[in-house]
Amino acid sequence: VLTVNDLCKTFGAGTARSNRVLDHISFDVRGQTFVSVVGPSGCGKSTLLNIISGVETHTSGDVSVTSDEGRPARLGYVFQDPRLLPWRTVRKNMLYVQDKDDDQARRRVSTYLDMVGLGQHGDFFPGQLSGGMQQRVGIARAFAVEPDLLIMDEPFSHLDAITARGLRAQLQDIWAQSRKTVVFVTHDVVEAVELSDRIIVLQPGGRIFEDIPIDLPRPRRQSDPAVATLQAE
Ligand code: ATP
Ligand code: MG
Repeated sequence: VLTVNDLCKTFGAGTARSNRVLDHISFDVRGQTFVSVVGPSGCGKSTLLNIISGVETHTSGDVSVTSDEGRPARLGYVFQDPRLLPWRTVRKNMLYVQDKDDDQARRRVSTYLDMVGLGQHGDFFPGQLSGGMQQRVGIARAFAVEPDLLIMDEPFSHLDAITARGLRAQLQDIWAQSRKTVVFVTHDVVEAVELSDRIIVLQPGGRIFEDIPIDLPRPRRQSDPAVATLQAE
C-alpha cells in the first residue's frame, strides 16, 4: 500500500541554511499492519508523514500510496491536536471528510463514533467535549473514511497520561476491528511497542537505524473478552 523509495529531503537546499532532514529512506508497508516510526525530536518524523500525505515536497526519491482496488488511494490523518471545525457538530465534522454525504457515509460515521464511545455525542459541538473526547472524534473521523493508509502524528502527546492510556486502548480495539494500514509516529517507545507490529527507528539526520518486527505479548485489557470472562467468574 505504501512504498517509500530512497527518499531524501533537504530544507533550504542550495542555501547557507541547507538542512538534510531525510537521508535515503526506503521502506514499504502493506496489508493490515500497524507500523510505528520512533526517534528523537527533530529527526524528521513529521516531515516524513507530511511528504507521504503530499503536503510537503521531497527532494529526491519516490513515495506512493496505492489502493487494492485500483481506485485513487484514500488517506486518513490524525494530528497532535484534533483539528475539528468548532462551528460544526461532531457528526458534521466527521461527514465533511467523506466523499459523499449519503446513507453509507452516515452509517460509517455512527459506527466509528460508537466504537470510540461517543455514539451519544454526535450533536455536540467540539467546545462541549474534553480534549480527550475531541481526539477520539479525530480518530473516529480518520477511520470512518475507510482509508487505505492511516497516518497518525503523535495523536496522544497533548493528553495527560491517564487519558492517553485510555485512548491507546481504544485505538487498539478499533484497529483490531478495522485492520487498516497504519503509520503511527511517536517519540514514546513504550507506546510504539504496545501498539505496533513493526517499529522503524529514525536517527538524527533522518536515516533508518532499525526496521524491526515486534512480536511481544501484549498487556491484556478490560475490553479483552478473555479478561472479561475471567472477571465474571
Ligand atoms: P518532533 O518529535 O519534535 O515532532 P520530528 O521528528 O517530527 O520532531 P520534523 O518536524 O520532521 O521532526 O523536523 C525535522 C527537521 O526539519 C528539523 O530540524 C526542523 O527544523 C526541520 N524543518 C521541519 N519543517 C521545516 C520547514 N517547513 N522549513 C525548514 N525546516 C523545517
Ligand atoms: Mg513531529
